[in-house]
Amino acid sequence: MSSSVIDFIATEARFGAHNYEPIGVVLSRGEGVWVWDTEGNRYLDCLSAYSAVSQGHCHPKILAAMVEQAHRLTLTSRAFHNDQLALFYEEIAALTGSHKVLPMNSGAEAVESAIKSVRKWGYEVKGVPDGAAEIIVCANNFHGRTLGIVGFSTDPETRTHFGPFAPGFKIIPFGDAAALEEAITPNTVAFLVEPIQGEAGVVIPPAGYFTKVRELCTANNVMLVLDEIQTGLGRTGKLLAEQHEGIEADVTLLGKALSGGFYPVSAVLSNNDVLGTLRPGQHGSTFGGNPLACAVARAAMRVLVEEGMIENAARQGARFLEGLKDIRANTIREVRGRGLMLAVELHPEAGRARRYCEALQGKGILAKDTHEQTIRIAPPLVITSDQVDWALERLATTLTQDFS
Ligand SMILES: *Cc1c(COP(=O)(O)O)cnc(C)c1O
Repeated sequence: MSSSVIDFIATEARFGAHNYEPIGVVLSRGEGVWVWDTEGNRYLDCLSAYSAVSQGHCHPKILAAMVEQAHRLTLTSRAFHNDQLALFYEEIAALTGSHKVLPMNSGAEAVESAIKSVRKWGYEVKGVPDGAAEIIVCANNFHGRTLGIVGFSTDPETRTHFGPFAPGFKIIPFGDAAALEEAITPNTVAFLVEPIQGEAGVVIPPAGYFTKVRELCTANNVMLVLDEIQTGLGRTGKLLAEQHEGIEADVTLLGKALSGGFYPVSAVLSNNDVLGTLRPGQHGSTFGGNPLACAVARAAMRVLVEEGMIENAARQGARFLEGLKDIRANTIREVRGRGLMLAVELHPEAGRARRYCEALQGKGILAKDTHEQTIRIAPPLVITSDQVDWALERLATTLTQDFS
């Protein structure tokens, strides 16, 4: 490592809160599926900033939209109208089939906004006694890092010493429709769930789970809130992961790839009167719905569709999964995935996934470990067959490597 690389890492360590444990690479440039470090080494990005850069790094059309808008108008606040918000609403509603949109910034803010909205809906429409609303969530969920959200996490690392937490959440196992049926009471306003649990290590529920969940929510007048912040916008090979089971959520949360990685943009989408219960002054955000965010998100959605990225995610994801399954290595316990949301789970004896990610870095691939034993693979949706094969070759040699 050159001294400049050491300086960046050491300076971060000296001044920054140590709430991350990054792989030892300092990136300075990106284009499509590739990123380069400060020394000019090239890597295939198999994390895509946790799926925020689905459209590929520095997509030229999103970049152009951002620069053009930044020259004209960046922020008005919602105290005034701007000439981008209406177009963003129209286009995201047309794309997703939603009726109402609430623009926010981070994913966690979208989740918080949905929680507020479904509670309000519960009191004002469903008739739940004030203060009694219950929201059901799943074990091993990941919905973000705010106090409200970490309060219903089941991960000790995420929660410990951050309390006291807000009440009103009930935790059930993921993928278990009978547990949902049992947990619902007359005061249940919503079931908040990820279609595939991303941070938990790409956990895919059994087939038919969401069909049953949809039925239970409808039968009990419970809002089904799907957190598609990671699974949405093509990542799993469909626009929304809910389409794999042909269901429709009542409330859908988008973030991450909604801006193609240029800027934090998130949204709460609803098909009914949930968002309709919010009145002026009851919720807001200084930056939410700003013209720069809207222009970036409009371009990010447009290229996703126009450049066939969703279909490509389905095609390349199938190729990638097949290729992973073909790797004969005794380090591998299981491979799983849908579209370009993939994971390799290692045997406990194989050692920590982190070591394999560091070895992959040496071979020109950046991937991220999650929960000790899992390597997550989620390249930009613009990846080609040749690039998939290139990655598979390197994964195969790394996973058959003996670290003992
Ligand atoms: C990343 C993520 C979030 C939180 O998004 P932030 O922008 O980091 O606040 C919420 N839910 C899911 C499923 C995510 O993957």
